[in-house]
Amino acid sequence: MRLLPAPAGSGIVFRRTDLDNFEIPAIGRNIAKVSYATSLMRQGVLISTTEHLLSALIGMGVDNVIVELDNLELPILDGSAQPYVRAFQSAGIRTQRRRRETIRVLRPVEVREGEKFIGVYPGSGYKILYAIEFPAPIGHQSACIDLAAETYGSLIAPARTFGYKADEQRLRDMGLIRGAGPENAIILGAQGPENGPLRFDDEYVRHKVLDLIGDLALAGRRIEGHVVAERAGHAMHTALVSRLMKDRSAWELAHVPMNAPTEEDTSDALAGNALASPALVGA
Ligand SMILES: [Zn+2]
Repeated sequence: MRLLPAPAGSGIVFRRTDLDNFEIPAIGRNIAKVSYATSLMRQGVLISTTEHLLSALIGMGVDNVIVELDNLELPILDGSAQPYVRAFQSAGIRTQRRRRETIRVLRPVEVREGEKFIGVYPGSGYKILYAIEFPAPIGHQSACIDLAAETYGSLIAPARTFGYKADEQRLRDMGLIRGAGPENAIILGAQGPENGPLRFDDEYVRHKVLDLIGDLALAGRRIEGHVVAERAGHAMHTALVSRLMKDRSAWELAHVPMNAPTEEDTSDALAGNALASPALVGA
């Protein structure tokens, strides 16, 4: 997989180099079937497991990038977004001379399904409150993060995905989690993680925040608003994106400068971000 800088306004676009450079923009219209991971599909062409890369891009403030892939699945790496963040940092991130366009939430949009809930509300910046309730040994965890505070790389990106040992065979039989193992997921036994130590005491809920940021990237632009999620997952996250996209009165496109213009640079406001140079990730 290779990431390339892209012009301002182009957004995040996947490109299948094994299929004549067929492009699939990371937007809600291309959301495919969602279960244990989020996938995109356009004209029958699939890209699967998009959430961790998209999360890293939004979390690190990259608005415009081309993601070249030579197969349908993004690399799982260590099960977190940290390897992506490191790759972006070594490639560098360039501020572009066009103002960043965001989706500014104007009215609440909510999705409820039994005990699962997700909603997005008007508010400045991009804040997320997430609560989970899982069987032991996880139990209840909650986390609150303000993405504008530049905390993503240290507080969210390192959090790994997780799975219960007891579910392993059933998921394998369903053809899911084919490449999953202790190198790329926290494996949970009855007593706790079998491949500890954890990177954070609340690594599980932090990973859910990571996934949420990646799934909400499919709104096509960075969200400006506050998100509340309870017991949600990829299906709920993407359902919120679909509902938000349909309800055109619930949001507006806003142009926000990323940084206040300095005295020397009062010309045009500052801009969205692209990678400064190509970045190679994974095998
Ligand atoms: Zn995940």
